[in-house]
Amino acid sequence: MQNNPMQQELKITCFAKTRSGHPCKTSTVKGKKRCRMHGGAKGSGAPKGSKNALKHGYYTKENIAKRSEVHKLIKEWKTLSQELEGDY
Ligand SMILES: [Zn+2]
Repeated sequence: MQNNPMQQELKITCFAKTRSGHPCKTSTVKGKKRCRMHGGAKGSGAPKGSKNALKHGYYTKENIAKRSEVHKLIKEWKTLSQELEGDY
């Protein structure tokens, strides 16, 4: 039997739009909502913990947080010193 409906896979078509504006008709990758051409084959972005793009660590989450903390302190110090200057 070739046309057994029980053996047919449930095909979901890709949710993406093609460049011509029509919906993509390719079936999705298992467990994903996009076909293999529209990002279904892999997750988006690098895997967590990947150090491939790390050059100097200037833009790591921790360093960005540290810098913003320092900027906040500088701002506080500036307003504080301006207040003190006003007293003289
Ligand atoms: Zn697609």
